[in-house]
Amino acid sequence: MTPTPMQMYIDGRWCDARDGATFASYDPVTAQPWCQFPDAGPKDVDDAVQSAHRAFDSAEWATLTATKRARLLHRLADLIEANTEELAQLESRDNGKLIRETRGQVGYLPEFFRYSAGMADKVTGDTLPLDKPDMFGATVRVPIGVVAAIIPWNSPLYLTAIKLAPALAAGNTMVIKPSEHASASLARLMTLVEEAGFPAGVVNLVTGYGPSTGAALTAHPLVRKIAFTGGSASARHVIRNSAENFAKLSLELGGKSPNIVFADADIDSAVNGIVAGVFAASGQSCVAGSRVLVERSVLPHVLEKLKDRAARIVIGKPDDPDTEMGPMATQAQLELVERLVSQAKEEGVECIYGGRRAEIGDGWYFQPTIFYSESTSPAIVREEVFGPVMVIMPFDDEAQAMTLANDTEHGLAAGIWTRDVGRAHRLARGIRAGIIWVNTYRAVSALAPIGGFGASGYGRECGPDSVKDYTELKTLWINLSSDPMPDPFIMR
Ligand code: NDP
Repeated sequence: MTPTPMQMYIDGRWCDARDGATFASYDPVTAQPWCQFPDAGPKDVDDAVQSAHRAFDSAEWATLTATKRARLLHRLADLIEANTEELAQLESRDNGKLIRETRGQVGYLPEFFRYSAGMADKVTGDTLPLDKPDMFGATVRVPIGVVAAIIPWNSPLYLTAIKLAPALAAGNTMVIKPSEHASASLARLMTLVEEAGFPAGVVNLVTGYGPSTGAALTAHPLVRKIAFTGGSASARHVIRNSAENFAKLSLELGGKSPNIVFADADIDSAVNGIVAGVFAASGQSCVAGSRVLVERSVLPHVLEKLKDRAARIVIGKPDDPDTEMGPMATQAQLELVERLVSQAKEEGVECIYGGRRAEIGDGWYFQPTIFYSESTSPAIVREEVFGPVMVIMPFDDEAQAMTLANDTEHGLAAGIWTRDVGRAHRLARGIRAGIIWVNTYRAVSALAPIGGFGASGYGRECGPDSVKDYTELKTLWINLSSDPMPDPFIMR
C-alpha cells in the first residue's frame, strides 16, 4: 500500500519541504509505512518561525483582545469535540495507542482549550505598594513571542493541547514539531486551527526528525520559549540549543515513579492502580509507575493478584474495543524494552511474569512483564523503560518505603495506597515528585499542574499558572512627583 502523503502547515498554507524530502510514518500493528510527511530542513523551519514571528507582531493578532482570543480557543474546542472520533482514530493508527484510550483523551481535549480560554482575560499584573511615596509601581504580563513546542510520540494531541492552549490564551504564536513517529493527528488538528479562524502564522506545524528539524527549531534566534516533552537525552540537546537564543524552557521528561502499596490498602484497588500505572498504554507513559513497592506482609497476595491480572490482559490491535494492551509505538522502542529486559535477566533479576515479545502478526508487541528485586542497583530498577515492565520491591516499614521511593534521580509522580490518612500525608510530603496520587493513579486534569523534580525536568504544565507561564513580566515605574529629577549619580 502506498503511504498517504501529508503536508506541513506554515504561514496558513499547506506545504511540502522546499527540497521535497519526505519520511514515512509506520503503523505499529503491521510494521508498514502508512503515511508520509515532509522532512523539514532549516529553511522550512526558518519559514515557520519567521511566519510565527510576523504573526506575533501583526495587528491582526497583537491587537486582538484576550476576550477575542478566548473566543477563538472556544471555537477550536468545539471543532475538536465535533471531530473526536477522527482525531482518535488517526492517533491510534499512528502510535498504536488503544482506541478506547485515544477516544477518552481526545474527548477530554476540548477542556484544556476551554480552561485556558477562561483564563485568557484574567491574566493580570499587580499594583506594587512601593516604599517610595512619589512613585507608582505595577507589573504587567505580556506574551513572550514565538514558542517552539517539541512533542513526543506517545500522546501527541494531549501533549500539544497542554502547550498550545495556554500559549495562545496568553497571546503567543507557536511552531509545533511532532515526533517523526506520530505526526498525523497534529496535521489534522491544524485543519481545525485553520477552520477556527486563527490568523495565518499564529500556529505552524513542521514535521521532521529531532536532531535536524527539532534542533533547527529550538536553536532558532527568534524562538523565545521552548516547551519540550520527551526523553532526557534530547532534552540535553534542547537545553544546549537554548543557549543560542536564550529561550525560556519548560521540560517535561520521563520518570521511574514509585507506586507504594501498604498492607492496610484496598488490595484489589491497588492492583488495578498498579496495572493502570505501568501496563496501560503499554507502559509508554511518562508517569508509568514502574517501581512497585509492596509492604512485605502482603507481598505474596499482591504478587499472586498481579500475575493473575497480567495473565488475563488482552493484547491485540488498538482498534479492537476489547484490547487492553496494544503494540509499542516504534520498533526502536520495542528493541529498547527487549534490551533492558534481557540485561535485567543477565544481571540475575528474577522475572516472574512475561519478559518476551508477544507474537501477534508483524506488530511491535511486548508482554506485560513483572520483575522482582530486593536490590536497588540493577538497571531495570533505576532506568526508565517506557514499556510494560514493572519491578516489584518489598519494604518493611514506612521509613524504608520513603527511602526507596526517593532513591531515584527522577521525580515525576508517585502513587500511595493506604487507608491511613496520616501516613498518606507524611509520604506525600516526603516524596520528591511533582505529582502524588493517593489511592488512585494516572489521573489528569486541565486544572492540575503536571511536571517533575530532578531528572524529570522543570516547569509545570496545566493548572492555574499555565497561562501565566507563557507570559513575561514587566515592571512599570511612574514618577508622580512634579519636582525635577534629583541627583543623577545616586540610585533612586
Ligand atoms: P525523545 O526525547 O526521543 O523525543 C521527543 C521529541 O524531541 C520528539 O519530537 C523528537 O523528535 C524531538 N527531538 C529529538 N532530538 C531532538 C533534538 N536534538 N532537538 C530538538 N528536538 C529533538 O522522546 P520520545 O519521543 O522517544 O518519547 C519518549 C520520552 O518522552 C520518554 O523518555 C518519556 O518519559 C518522555 N515523555 C515525558 C512526558 C512528560 O509529560 N513528562 C510525556 C511523554 C513522554 P523525533 O521523535 O522526530 O526524533
